[in-house]
Amino acid sequence: MKVTTIGYWGGYPGVNSATSSYLIEEGDFSLLVDCGSGALARVQQKLEVMDLDAVILSHYHHDHVADIGVLQYAWLVQNTINESSDILPIYGHQEDGQAFEMLTHQYTEGIAYDPSQTLEIGPFTIEFLKTKHPVPCYALKICNGTETVVYTADTSHFEELGTFAEAADLLITDTNFYKGMDGEKPGHMTSEEAASVAEKANVETLWLSHLPHFGDLNMLKQEAADVYNGNIELAEEGLTWSGKDQ
Ligand code: ZN
Repeated sequence: MKVTTIGYWGGYPGVNSATSSYLIEEGDFSLLVDCGSGALARVQQKLEVMDLDAVILSHYHHDHVADIGVLQYAWLVQNTINESSDILPIYGHQEDGQAFEMLTHQYTEGIAYDPSQTLEIGPFTIEFLKTKHPVPCYALKICNGTETVVYTADTSHFEELGTFAEAADLLITDTNFYKGMDGEKPGHMTSEEAASVAEKANVETLWLSHLPHFGDLNMLKQEAADVYNGNIELAEEGLTWSGKDQ
């Protein structure tokens, strides 16, 4: 399994970059996890837009779904040019009916996931955990049979995250605040809280992502290192993790 950071900002994209989006590949299957602002431009450095096999969304905040509309236009334009009629499945939860409806377009099909059930998408098995966020949002545990990647999506800290992420090979956390700040109301974690999830879950590698637009981002890594002894990376575009079998 190969994971590539496409976008890593919280809220809005910085110059020439994108908000939350990750490309997860296994063999020739490509899954896009969240599709934030700028994601469509940035992901095309990695693959042709028609080579995406599926998209899955954690929740419907703009910094996670802003480029879904233009992705739908891209599939419309490319299908027209190529005289093809390929359909892109876009998985999302159904707790916001209006937002879910928007996932279906001429060449995209919105597919509801049931968070209480395990979902199979291509070579991946996906489990869900509802997070603590102002709107319904789900953390994802993505497994290819031998490796496990956990993405917290957007959430303030709560104990079950550590259980959900248990022994993950890679943990990608919402790290929108610095140590000592209070992320509970906006529904995000601090560096210290993200690291405590990694520590509790005993994961191998931690990526700090959904980064803030203030402060010295390297401080986030230092603060996390005081709590968690494993590998820590500050997310940036193109940051990749390749599983053991790659
Ligand atoms: Zn959010």
